[in-house]
This record gives sequence, structure tokens and C-alpha cells, in this order.
Amino acid sequence: MSENISFVDEQLTEEQISYGRADREQRATDWGTDEDDGVMPDVVVWPESTDDVAAVVSAANDHGVPITPYAAGTSLEGNAVPVRGGITLDISRMDEVLETRPEDLQVDVQPGILGDDLNKAIASHGLVLPSLPSSGAISTIGGMIANDASGMKTVKYGEVADWVLELEVVLPTGEVTTLGSKASKTSAGYNLMDLIVGSEGTLGIVTRATIQLAGRPEQIRGGRAIFDNIDDAASAVTDAVQSGVDVAKIELIDRFSAEVSNDFLDTDLPNAPMVFVEFHANHGIAREVDFCRAVFNDHSVESFEVSDTDDGMRDLWEARRELAEAFEPYDRNLSPLTPGDITVPISKYPDIINYAKQLAEEYDLPVATFGHAGDGNVHYFVMVDPDDPESVKVGETVSKRLVERTIELGGTSTGEHGIGTGKQEYLVEEHDEAAIGAMRSVKDALDPNGILNPGKIFSQD
Ligand SMILES: Cc1cc2nc3c(=O)[nH]c(=O)nc-3n(C[C@H](O)[C@H](O)[C@H](O)COP(=O)(O)OP(=O)(O)OC[C@H]3O[C@@H](n4cnc5c(N)ncnc54)[C@H](O)[C@@H]3O)c2cc1C
Repeated sequence: MSENISFVDEQLTEEQISYGRADREQRATDWGTDEDDGVMPDVVVWPESTDDVAAVVSAANDHGVPITPYAAGTSLEGNAVPVRGGITLDISRMDEVLETRPEDLQVDVQPGILGDDLNKAIASHGLVLPSLPSSGAISTIGGMIANDASGMKTVKYGEVADWVLELEVVLPTGEVTTLGSKASKTSAGYNLMDLIVGSEGTLGIVTRATIQLAGRPEQIRGGRAIFDNIDDAASAVTDAVQSGVDVAKIELIDRFSAEVSNDFLDTDLPNAPMVFVEFHANHGIAREVDFCRAVFNDHSVESFEVSDTDDGMRDLWEARRELAEAFEPYDRNLSPLTPGDITVPISKYPDIINYAKQLAEEYDLPVATFGHAGDGNVHYFVMVDPDDPESVKVGETVSKRLVERTIELGGTSTGEHGIGTGKQEYLVEEHDEAAIGAMRSVKDALDPNGILNPGKIFSQD
């Protein structure tokens, strides 16, 4: 334990502090960080109020001790893992719904509430936060805001942050401030609230969020289209978005992903590229489905099944839903190198999917592409033999070339997972020096002692 860390004992009660190895070890990893790679914090604290957070942050700032905010730890780029010890501030006990205002379609929550729990809490009002990541059941609203998360429904409803109106934030000095407004729009001054979005806990700690809500759609249909080849499938997605088909979800999985999924589920679907769609509407949904069918027909769709029952939709979506779990058991000599996440402008979507296929052939190793296709978002799993350094090296080359090509196409090295520690080399490829300089200036201005989640987003040098 660092000598100067015991000041937390004066800020919180015994039940809110742990120096125990198991608690510290658990927060030296997130879903994207191996046990061997993470650094343990010296202490884990569980604030239960904004005042608790402010007290710990203020004292840490005075002592120059790093603080890493930690929510559910489902980050994939090391975002929530300390790089040099200090305090892990676990926000999970701050998980209350504070106030629901159905008349304004708004809810105030503490940051540690899970996405699905928020939706359960407001369901009786017929309201929903429509945009959640696929990890909505296991990740928190605060973590989503800090990572600028999005998901399957972003193609229709935008990112999680598009539904955030106001944030209470503890700044790195310990000051508490409120950013944004409960009004549905504001142009009063710099939009500092959006600076907190995607800042990965490096600029402030969110302690309360006011979220805008939507009414639940009356009609939902879900479907699965199967294509003969990836070019047809990818261009069908692009065409559907460009033509304005009103999809609430449109996801693609490539041939290799379909094979992995079929193997895992023991299903007899063809090992062929598939596109999964969902439609939401209050009226006229059948016309939208027909419109989509017409677009898919233009791209030689082999089959397109649609259901309006919960069970039917669940069946049609199974191959996509279970995919993330399917890779690990697929071949015991192969593991996904990295949970890749890139996004291109929609017109470039077929190009990047094709490029991934070319790389797989050139380097003779399996590369799976799937994800939130309607946003131009590609998740990629480069499959390598983790025990073979040469295989890992080749996989890293493939990943690097894929990200670099994405940036050349006008895309981004991370559509939704953030930079953390894993994507820092690409931040400087994606943004020019002036932009990086401005980002660093913002960090220095708000966090002059560099105590909040140091070592994230920017490289340490
Ligand atoms: C199976 C799986 C599926 C996923 N699918 C998606 C997806 O579809 N879309 C997507 O965008 N992501 C996805 N993710 C990534 C991840 O779930 C999201 O980034 C999620 O928003 C992280 O939330 P968390 O509560 O786990 O936060 P954590 O991982 O604990 O923390 C995330 C970051 O936020 C900071 N932080 C946490 N709480 C606060 C706070 N209150 N104030 C300030 N900073 C804070 C942390 O320091 C860290 O930098 C997926 C992950 C998994 C494991």
C-alpha cells in the first residue's frame, strides 16, 4: 500500500473501503484486460453519494494520488483499469433511480444503475431509453456515458449520449458542478456536458444523469436475411440505409461468423452471410418491411424471414445474439486477438468488409466481421493461436492494417469502445497534432495534477 493513501479512511466508513487483495485484483482487469496485464489499485472505495465522491476526489487531488473510476468493468480497451495503482472508485453502489418525470419524458439516475434496470424501472410509464449497448444488461449508465457507448439501435435512435440532457459531475479538484440542462435543447455557453461524454473518466466523475426517454413503439417486427456472398450482404445494408429504410436495428455477420455461430448453436442454417433487422413503428410497419424486402431483393437476397411474435423474432435473431459467446469454444487452438471496433462512413462499409476478407486471405488466418452494420460499425475478431508468438504477431499486423485502412476511408479507430490503453497509437493517426494538443490542454486545465484515470486516452510519454 502507498503510504499516503490512508487519507481515504477519514473520508468514508470502514464498509466503503477495501485494501483486500481480492477486491483490488478484481479491479485490475476489465473485459478487455488480461489478469497479467492490469495494475492493481492500492485501495478500492465505494462512494454512496455525490458528497462521498467529492470528498475522496478532493483529498486525492491534495495528495496527488490517482483515481480510476470503475463501474461494471465491461470496457474492452482497458478503460477502467489503473495504470499506476492509487484509488479505484467503484461507483456500483450509486445505482438508484432518483426521480421519474413521465410528463417530461425524463428520469434522473445515479450513474451505477445498469441499463436494463433503468428500463425496467420506467417500463410502467410506457417509456424506454431506446439506445443501449449490447452489454446493456451488464453495464452502467455512467460507464456508457464515459465511454460514449452505442449499440444495435443506434441506427435509428442515436448513441446513449444523445439521450443525456444534464449531468452532475465531480471535477478533478473535488468541485461539484451541473452541466447541460433539463430543457430539451440549450445553446447557453460551451457544451461542457459533451466534453464529459467519451472522456473515459479522465475529466470528471458523473454522479447524476438526467436522461430523456422515448415512448415504447407499438409495433415491432424482426427478421433475418441470408445472402449468397458478403458483397451482396454488405451492399444491401448500405443501400437500405442510403434509401432511408426505417430500421431500428440492422446487423451483419459474415460467412465465418455464421459458421462459428452454427457450430456453437448446432443449427442447420447455411454458413452464409446474414443480415438481421428489426423495425419499430406506431403504424404502417408492414410497408417498411416491404420496402426493406425490395432493397434486399435488389441485392439477390436468398431468403428473408420476418416475424411479429417475440418467440419468432428471438429464433430469427439467435445466430446474431449468441455470436459473442461462440468464438471461444469454436477451435481450442484459436482465440480472438482483440475485440475490434471500427466505424466507416456508410458508403465505405462494403469496402472495409471486403478489405477484412482480403487480409484474411493474404495472411491465411480467420477474421470474423460482424456488428452494427447500419452505422458502418464493424466488430472484428482476428483469430490467432495465443500460444504461438508468430501467429499473434501476424494477427496484430492484420488488426493494425484494418484500423489504418478504416482511418484512410474517413472512419474512426473506435466507434464505441473508446481509446483506453488499447487504441492509443491510433488516436494520433486519426487526429492531427492541433486536435491532440487541444485535447491535452483540456485535460491539463480541468485536471492540473493529472489524478483522474491517468494513462488513458493519451500515451503516457
Ligand atoms: C459482451 C459485451 C458487449 C458489449 N457491447 C457493446 C456495445 O454494443 N456497444 C458499446 O458501446 N460497448 C459495448 N461493450 C463495451 C462496454 O460494455 C461499454 O463501453 C460500457 O458502456 C461500459 O460500461 P461499464 O459500466 O462496464 O463501465 P466500466 O467499464 O466500469 O468503465 C468505463 C469507463 O468509464 C469510466 N467510468 C465509469 N463510471 C464512471 C462515472 N460514473 N463517471 C465517470 N467515469 C466513469 C471508467 O473509468 C472507464 O474509463 C460491450 C462489452 C461487452 C463485455
